[in-house]
Amino acid sequence: MLLPNKCSIREVNKDCVNPPKYVITVVSNNDEFMLGITCEKHKTSVSSKIGSLQNDGKIPKGRIKFENLKSVQTDCIRGDPDDLIQL
Ligand SMILES: [Zn+2]
Repeated sequence: MLLPNKCSIREVNKDCVNPPKYVITVVSNNDEFMLGITCEKHKTSVSSKIGSLQNDGKIPKGRIKFENLKSVQTDCIRGDPDDLIQL
């Protein structure tokens, strides 16, 4: 799987163009779903955003994980990192 080369966060009306630093996944029922990738700047805000998406039932409940992009083996993670996360 190829990862996008920029942060998957979209602020009010513009996409973030920072280089990504972490892969965001949620671990649920022994499955790991990729939600997107984020730069250093958006790590905190995306984390709280994901929490509220989980409360709304829009994404699976589970533990949110930030993994350093360089250490991630993407072939064992499912998901579509092309989706942007709207803040
Ligand atoms: Zn960003």
